[in-house]
Amino acid sequence: MNLLSRTIARLWLALTLALAVLGAAGPAAADSQLSALAHIDPGSSAILANSEGTRITLGLSQPVPFRAYMLDDPRRLVVDFREVDFSGLTPEAMLATQGQGTMIRDLRWGRFRPGWSRMVAELSAPAAILTAVEDTGDDPHVEIRLVRSTPAAFAAKAGAPSSALWDLPQPAQTAAPHRRQDGGEPLRVVLDPGHGGIDPGAEIDGLQEKVLTLTFARELKEQMTRAGMSVTMTRTEDVFVPLEDRITIARNAGADLFIALHADILPEGQASGATIYQLDEKSEDEASRKLAERHDRDDLLAGVDLAGHDDGVAGVLMDLARTETQPRSVRLAQVLAGAIRGANLPMHRHPVQKADFSVLKAPDIPSVLVELGFLSSPDDRRRLLDDGWRRQMAGAITQGVLNWAKADAAEARLLRR
Ligand SMILES: [Zn+2]
Repeated sequence: MNLLSRTIARLWLALTLALAVLGAAGPAAADSQLSALAHIDPGSSAILANSEGTRITLGLSQPVPFRAYMLDDPRRLVVDFREVDFSGLTPEAMLATQGQGTMIRDLRWGRFRPGWSRMVAELSAPAAILTAVEDTGDDPHVEIRLVRSTPAAFAAKAGAPSSALWDLPQPAQTAAPHRRQDGGEPLRVVLDPGHGGIDPGAEIDGLQEKVLTLTFARELKEQMTRAGMSVTMTRTEDVFVPLEDRITIARNAGADLFIALHADILPEGQASGATIYQLDEKSEDEASRKLAERHDRDDLLAGVDLAGHDDGVAGVLMDLARTETQPRSVRLAQVLAGAIRGANLPMHRHPVQKADFSVLKAPDIPSVLVELGFLSSPDDRRRLLDDGWRRQMAGAITQGVLNWAKADAAEARLLRR
């Protein structure tokens, strides 16, 4: 992907998010446009070859995240998409559109992994990707331009770009892709007790965040299980789990939602009360930024190298996938805050905040981070150690999740019609 496509993709993301947040199009409208499966548009799909190179155009019913790269042995162009329904167009028909001098010998496409499709174009000669762009306007399409190259240059450039999204281990035996929950099955919740093992999290007066979050997660799991949910914890003992692994665990569990639990220290000001954080990579709030950075550093110090997980292509791919999930995460944060307030439990004066927490970056699972309270606040410390308070808080969160899931399922059923 070049700079242009990245810019288009980012503009599209920004616009969609703005619409979702402003409610200009309504969350349902924004979601329906994004959640429906993209279809190939045969009429605007073609391969055009001339002396300068070969151009592949794929018309789509809606923009999808994609990436393009070359693989060797045999030489081929690979294009990965968020799932696209190719029915209505056959590789034969597509190949028949190309003129003389094409570099494409053969073509195939189909579902590659749950939720993802792949197109493979076998090349008759070494080629290079000149541009790979997506027009996300009224007439969405992906356009890839190939130019002739040399065997040596091809070999040097071939290889799948490393991508945090693609390199995540896939669920071992998932017969069908995990669909958005619609209330038909028990809700699959993943609880993520913050910190653990060599990473104690916040510490004050002999209290450790990692211990408090695990205790609370166990109690919350019990209440949620009683309410009919299927609950997985990212850790069930005092062990270190890298941030990225926490997301992998959630994906492998087929999570419908992800709740990280923390009780940090906020040195700035006298913060107290429960706070729900939603992901915002561009959050400019100083305290939130420091809080998120501290968690990344904790992770880093514990021996996991975060570097190299942020190539541009992967970033765009994740951003776009996340666009579908973002409005659902926002609603989850709001409904949880409402439920906690409804139970008359103390909340921070800004109960829903935004921060760039790495653990909230699963692109396809609605995720929030709950600061149950702040260890820097004596009142919060007292509450966190109080069985009765924890029971009430767990009850409020359980109720909030039930409320969210009901509305979320209703919307999913509506979109599916
Ligand atoms: Zn923490």
